[in-house]
Amino acid sequence: MAYVFGPVLSRRLGLSLGVDLTPPKTCTYDCLYCQVGRTTRITAEPYPFVPAAEVIQELEKKLRQVTPDFITISGSGEPTLHSQIDQIIGYVKNRTGFKVALLTNGSLLWRKEVMERVLRADLIMPTFSTAIEETYRAIHNPHPDLTLELLTKGLKSLRQAFRGELMIEVMLLRGFNDRDEEISALRSAIGDIGPDRIQLNTVVRPPSDRRAVALDRKTLEDIKNGFGPSGEIIAEVRRKGREQRFDTLFSQILEMVKRRPVRAADVSSALGVSLRRVNKLLRTLEKRGSIHSKEHGSETYYVA
Ligand code: SF4
Repeated sequence: MAYVFGPVLSRRLGLSLGVDLTPPKTCTYDCLYCQVGRTTRITAEPYPFVPAAEVIQELEKKLRQVTPDFITISGSGEPTLHSQIDQIIGYVKNRTGFKVALLTNGSLLWRKEVMERVLRADLIMPTFSTAIEETYRAIHNPHPDLTLELLTKGLKSLRQAFRGELMIEVMLLRGFNDRDEEISALRSAIGDIGPDRIQLNTVVRPPSDRRAVALDRKTLEDIKNGFGPSGEIIAEVRRKGREQRFDTLFSQILEMVKRRPVRAADVSSALGVSLRRVNKLLRTLEKRGSIHSKEHGSETYYVA
Protein backbone atom coordinates (compact mmCIF):
# COMPACT_ATOMS: atom_id res chain seq x y z
CA MET A 1 0.00 0.00 0.00
CA ALA A 2 1.30 3.43 -0.87
CA TYR A 3 -0.67 5.72 1.44
CA VAL A 4 -2.19 3.60 4.22
CA PHE A 5 0.09 1.98 6.77
CA GLY A 6 -0.12 -0.03 9.94
CA PRO A 7 -1.96 -0.59 12.11
CA VAL A 8 0.62 0.75 14.52
CA LEU A 9 0.42 1.12 18.24
CA SER A 10 0.50 4.81 18.95
CA ARG A 11 1.39 6.14 22.34
CA ARG A 12 -1.71 8.31 22.28
CA LEU A 13 -4.26 6.61 20.07
CA GLY A 14 -4.20 2.91 20.75
CA LEU A 15 -4.39 0.86 17.57
CA SER A 16 -4.18 3.33 14.77
CA LEU A 17 -4.31 2.99 11.00
CA GLY A 18 -2.10 5.63 9.45
CA VAL A 19 -2.70 7.65 6.31
CA ASP A 20 0.27 9.38 4.70
CA LEU A 21 -0.70 12.24 2.41
CA THR A 22 2.64 13.75 1.47
CA PRO A 23 5.68 12.39 -0.35
CA PRO A 24 8.71 12.04 1.92
CA LYS A 25 9.82 14.44 3.08
CA THR A 26 7.51 17.33 2.28
CA CYS A 27 6.80 19.68 5.13
CA THR A 28 6.35 23.29 6.17
CA TYR A 29 9.07 22.73 8.80
CA ASP A 30 12.43 21.00 9.11
CA CYS A 31 12.39 20.20 12.83
CA LEU A 32 15.56 19.22 14.66
CA TYR A 33 13.73 16.35 16.35
CA CYS A 34 12.00 14.96 13.25
CA GLN A 35 12.08 11.17 13.21
CA VAL A 36 11.35 10.97 9.47
CA GLY A 37 14.63 12.70 8.50
CA ARG A 38 15.52 16.07 6.99
CA THR A 39 12.93 17.95 4.94
CA THR A 40 13.83 17.73 1.28
CA ARG A 41 10.91 19.82 0.03
CA ILE A 42 9.92 22.75 2.22
CA THR A 43 6.71 24.44 1.13
CA ALA A 44 3.78 26.37 2.60
CA GLU A 45 1.47 25.89 -0.37
CA PRO A 46 -1.18 23.14 -0.20
CA TYR A 47 -1.33 20.83 -3.20
CA PRO A 48 -3.06 17.49 -4.07
CA PHE A 49 0.18 15.50 -3.77
CA VAL A 50 -1.60 12.16 -4.09
CA PRO A 51 -5.08 11.51 -5.57
CA ALA A 52 -7.71 11.43 -2.77
CA ALA A 53 -9.63 8.71 -4.68
CA GLU A 54 -6.61 6.37 -4.52
CA VAL A 55 -6.14 6.96 -0.80
CA ILE A 56 -9.84 6.21 -0.23
CA GLN A 57 -9.60 2.98 -2.27
CA GLU A 58 -6.68 1.81 -0.13
CA LEU A 59 -8.54 2.67 3.06
CA GLU A 60 -11.59 0.71 1.92
CA LYS A 61 -9.42 -2.34 1.28
CA LYS A 62 -7.52 -2.13 4.56
CA LEU A 63 -10.63 -1.57 6.66
CA ARG A 64 -11.90 -4.96 5.52
CA GLN A 65 -8.93 -6.51 7.37
CA VAL A 66 -8.48 -4.44 10.54
CA THR A 67 -10.55 -2.60 13.12
CA PRO A 68 -8.51 0.33 14.38
CA ASP A 69 -9.32 2.71 17.22
CA PHE A 70 -8.47 5.66 14.99
CA ILE A 71 -7.70 6.48 11.39
CA THR A 72 -4.76 8.79 11.90
CA ILE A 73 -3.75 11.28 9.27
CA SER A 74 -0.05 11.87 9.72
CA GLY A 75 2.88 10.27 7.93
CA SER A 76 6.10 11.52 6.48
CA GLY A 77 5.36 15.23 6.23
CA GLU A 78 2.74 17.86 7.11
CA PRO A 79 -0.72 16.47 6.21
CA THR A 80 -2.52 19.84 5.99
CA LEU A 81 -0.34 20.50 2.95
CA HIS A 82 -2.66 18.12 1.10
CA SER A 83 -5.35 20.27 -0.49
CA GLN A 84 -7.91 17.40 -0.58
CA ILE A 85 -7.54 16.29 3.04
CA ASP A 86 -11.21 17.19 3.57
CA GLN A 87 -12.26 14.52 1.06
CA ILE A 88 -10.39 11.83 2.97
CA ILE A 89 -11.75 12.91 6.37
CA GLY A 90 -15.23 13.16 4.78
CA TYR A 91 -14.99 9.59 3.45
CA VAL A 92 -14.05 8.18 6.88
CA LYS A 93 -16.78 10.14 8.66
CA ASN A 94 -19.57 9.53 6.12
CA ARG A 95 -18.84 5.97 5.09
CA THR A 96 -17.02 4.09 7.86
CA GLY A 97 -17.97 5.37 11.30
CA PHE A 98 -14.34 5.27 12.47
CA LYS A 99 -12.82 8.15 14.36
CA VAL A 100 -10.30 10.45 12.69
CA ALA A 101 -7.23 11.89 14.38
CA LEU A 102 -5.04 14.50 12.72
CA LEU A 103 -1.41 14.94 13.70
CA THR A 104 -0.31 18.33 12.43
CA ASN A 105 2.34 20.92 13.13
CA GLY A 106 -0.49 23.48 12.96
CA SER A 107 1.55 25.90 10.86
CA LEU A 108 -1.09 26.40 8.13
CA LEU A 109 -4.24 26.56 10.26
CA TRP A 110 -4.25 30.38 10.14
CA ARG A 111 -5.36 29.96 6.52
CA LYS A 112 -9.15 29.76 6.73
CA GLU A 113 -9.51 27.26 3.88
CA VAL A 114 -6.93 24.92 5.47
CA MET A 115 -8.62 25.06 8.87
CA GLU A 116 -12.05 24.41 7.38
CA ARG A 117 -10.79 21.28 5.62
CA VAL A 118 -9.97 19.56 8.94
CA LEU A 119 -12.93 20.56 11.12
CA ARG A 120 -14.68 17.18 10.81
CA ALA A 121 -11.84 15.31 12.50
CA ASP A 122 -12.58 13.96 15.99
CA LEU A 123 -9.21 14.77 17.45
CA ILE A 124 -6.62 17.30 16.33
CA MET A 125 -3.14 17.26 17.78
CA PRO A 126 -1.12 20.32 16.75
CA THR A 127 2.39 21.00 17.96
CA PHE A 128 3.10 24.12 20.01
CA SER A 129 6.48 24.01 21.67
CA THR A 130 7.48 27.59 22.39
CA ALA A 131 6.06 31.09 22.74
CA ILE A 132 9.33 32.73 21.67
CA GLU A 133 9.89 33.41 17.98
CA GLU A 134 13.65 32.82 18.07
CA THR A 135 13.22 29.42 19.71
CA TYR A 136 10.41 28.57 17.28
CA ARG A 137 12.76 29.21 14.36
CA ALA A 138 15.64 27.30 16.00
CA ILE A 139 13.58 24.17 16.71
CA HIS A 140 11.35 24.01 13.64
CA ASN A 141 13.29 25.76 10.85
CA PRO A 142 9.97 26.87 9.30
CA HIS A 143 9.29 27.93 5.71
CA PRO A 144 10.18 31.67 5.48
CA ASP A 145 6.49 32.66 5.11
CA LEU A 146 5.57 31.09 8.47
CA THR A 147 5.85 32.66 11.91
CA LEU A 148 4.99 31.87 15.50
CA GLU A 149 2.41 34.65 15.40
CA LEU A 150 0.59 32.94 12.51
CA LEU A 151 0.78 29.56 14.25
CA THR A 152 -0.76 31.05 17.41
CA LYS A 153 -3.44 32.83 15.42
CA GLY A 154 -4.34 29.58 13.62
CA LEU A 155 -4.61 27.59 16.83
CA LYS A 156 -6.84 30.21 18.44
CA SER A 157 -9.15 30.22 15.40
CA LEU A 158 -9.22 26.43 15.41
CA ARG A 159 -10.21 26.40 19.06
CA GLN A 160 -13.16 28.66 18.25
CA ALA A 161 -14.39 26.64 15.26
CA PHE A 162 -13.53 23.04 16.13
CA ARG A 163 -16.03 20.92 18.09
CA GLY A 164 -13.79 17.88 18.62
CA GLU A 165 -10.95 17.34 21.05
CA LEU A 166 -7.93 19.61 20.80
CA MET A 167 -4.78 18.15 22.25
CA ILE A 168 -1.64 20.27 22.03
CA GLU A 169 1.68 18.49 21.87
CA VAL A 170 4.68 20.24 23.35
CA MET A 171 7.99 18.86 22.10
CA LEU A 172 10.66 19.61 24.67
CA LEU A 173 14.36 19.73 23.79
CA ARG A 174 17.18 20.14 26.25
CA GLY A 175 18.83 23.55 25.93
CA PHE A 176 16.17 24.92 23.57
CA ASN A 177 12.83 25.26 25.33
CA ASP A 178 13.34 23.91 28.84
CA ARG A 179 14.41 27.14 30.61
CA ASP A 180 12.05 28.61 33.24
CA GLU A 181 11.29 31.73 31.13
CA GLU A 182 10.47 29.51 28.15
CA ILE A 183 8.12 27.32 30.14
CA SER A 184 6.37 30.22 31.80
CA ALA A 185 5.78 31.99 28.42
CA LEU A 186 4.61 28.67 26.94
CA ARG A 187 2.12 28.08 29.77
CA SER A 188 0.62 31.48 29.28
CA ALA A 189 0.37 31.14 25.46
CA ILE A 190 -1.21 27.69 25.71
CA GLY A 191 -3.60 29.03 28.35
CA ASP A 192 -4.76 31.64 25.80
CA ILE A 193 -5.35 28.95 23.17
CA GLY A 194 -7.34 26.78 25.60
CA PRO A 195 -6.81 23.16 24.45
CA ASP A 196 -8.55 20.23 26.12
CA ARG A 197 -5.27 18.56 26.94
CA ILE A 198 -1.55 19.30 26.83
CA GLN A 199 0.81 16.45 26.09
CA LEU A 200 4.47 16.82 26.92
CA ASN A 201 6.84 14.94 24.72
CA THR A 202 10.57 14.76 24.23
CA VAL A 203 13.02 13.12 21.85
CA VAL A 204 12.24 9.43 22.23
CA ARG A 205 13.18 8.24 18.72
CA PRO A 206 16.34 8.96 16.75
CA PRO A 207 16.14 12.62 15.63
CA SER A 208 17.23 14.11 12.30
CA ASP A 209 19.67 16.47 14.09
CA ARG A 210 21.97 15.47 16.93
CA ARG A 211 21.32 18.75 18.73
CA ALA A 212 17.85 17.44 19.59
CA VAL A 213 18.36 15.91 23.02
CA ALA A 214 15.71 14.52 25.34
CA LEU A 215 14.77 15.90 28.75
CA ASP A 216 15.09 13.55 31.68
CA ARG A 217 12.01 12.23 33.45
CA LYS A 218 12.45 14.45 36.51
CA THR A 219 12.55 17.66 34.42
CA LEU A 220 9.51 16.50 32.46
CA GLU A 221 7.66 15.83 35.71
CA ASP A 222 8.51 19.31 37.04
CA ILE A 223 7.29 20.94 33.83
CA LYS A 224 4.13 18.84 33.82
CA ASN A 225 3.28 19.90 37.37
CA GLY A 226 3.30 23.52 36.21
CA PHE A 227 0.66 22.79 33.58
CA GLY A 228 -1.89 21.55 36.11
CA PRO A 229 -4.42 18.74 35.57
CA SER A 230 -4.68 19.09 31.77
CA GLY A 231 -0.94 18.47 31.34
CA GLU A 232 0.43 14.97 30.93
CA ILE A 233 3.61 13.25 29.90
CA ILE A 234 2.98 10.93 27.01
CA ALA A 235 3.47 7.48 28.43
CA GLU A 236 4.36 4.30 26.63
CA VAL A 237 1.34 2.09 26.19
CA ARG A 238 1.11 -1.56 25.48
CA ARG A 239 -1.80 -3.57 24.38
CA LYS A 240 -1.26 -7.20 25.16
CA GLY A 241 -3.03 -10.08 23.58
CA ARG A 242 -4.87 -8.11 20.93
CA GLU A 243 -4.83 -10.37 17.94
CA GLN A 244 -5.43 -9.14 14.43
CA ARG A 245 -5.22 -11.07 11.21
CA PHE A 246 -2.49 -9.77 8.91
CA ASP A 247 -1.55 -10.79 5.40
CA THR A 248 2.07 -11.42 6.27
CA LEU A 249 3.97 -10.43 9.34
CA PHE A 250 7.06 -9.55 7.37
CA SER A 251 5.31 -7.04 5.15
CA GLN A 252 3.52 -5.51 8.15
CA ILE A 253 6.80 -5.08 9.98
CA LEU A 254 8.46 -3.57 6.92
CA GLU A 255 5.57 -1.13 6.56
CA MET A 256 5.98 0.00 10.15
CA VAL A 257 9.75 0.32 9.93
CA LYS A 258 9.55 2.23 6.65
CA ARG A 259 7.51 4.98 8.34
CA ARG A 260 9.42 5.45 11.56
CA PRO A 261 11.99 3.76 13.80
CA VAL A 262 10.38 1.06 15.96
CA ARG A 263 11.41 -1.15 18.85
CA ALA A 264 10.69 -4.87 19.00
CA ALA A 265 8.18 -4.12 21.77
CA ASP A 266 6.31 -1.65 19.52
CA VAL A 267 5.99 -4.30 16.81
CA SER A 268 4.93 -6.93 19.30
CA SER A 269 2.19 -4.72 20.79
CA ALA A 270 0.93 -3.46 17.45
CA LEU A 271 0.73 -6.86 15.80
CA GLY A 272 -0.36 -8.84 18.86
CA VAL A 273 2.57 -11.23 18.36
CA SER A 274 4.88 -12.43 21.12
CA LEU A 275 8.11 -10.50 21.67
CA ARG A 276 10.11 -13.70 21.15
CA ARG A 277 8.58 -14.22 17.74
CA VAL A 278 8.99 -10.57 16.78
CA ASN A 279 12.68 -10.68 17.71
CA LYS A 280 13.11 -13.72 15.46
CA LEU A 281 11.34 -11.96 12.57
CA LEU A 282 13.42 -8.80 13.05
CA ARG A 283 16.64 -10.83 13.05
CA THR A 284 15.63 -12.47 9.78
CA LEU A 285 14.83 -9.12 8.17
CA GLU A 286 18.14 -7.75 9.42
CA LYS A 287 20.06 -10.69 7.96
CA ARG A 288 18.33 -10.13 4.63
CA GLY A 289 19.43 -6.48 4.74
CA SER A 290 15.82 -5.17 4.69
CA ILE A 291 16.24 -3.35 8.01
CA HIS A 292 19.00 -2.45 10.41
CA SER A 293 19.19 -1.66 14.09
CA LYS A 294 20.21 1.58 15.70
CA GLU A 295 20.84 2.33 19.37
CA HIS A 296 19.21 5.41 20.89
CA GLY A 297 19.31 6.01 24.63
CA SER A 298 19.11 2.55 26.14
CA GLU A 299 16.81 1.21 23.41
CA THR A 300 17.33 -0.62 20.11
CA TYR A 301 15.31 0.78 17.21
CA TYR A 302 14.87 -0.78 13.78
CA VAL A 303 14.99 1.42 10.70
CA ALA A 304 14.57 0.74 6.99
S1 SF4 B 1 8.45 16.69 13.03
FE1 SF4 B 1 6.61 16.93 11.79
S2 SF4 B 1 6.53 19.10 11.41
FE2 SF4 B 1 8.59 18.69 12.03
S3 SF4 B 1 9.73 18.34 10.14
FE3 SF4 B 1 9.04 16.33 10.88
S4 SF4 B 1 7.12 16.01 9.80
FE4 SF4 B 1 7.56 18.19 9.64
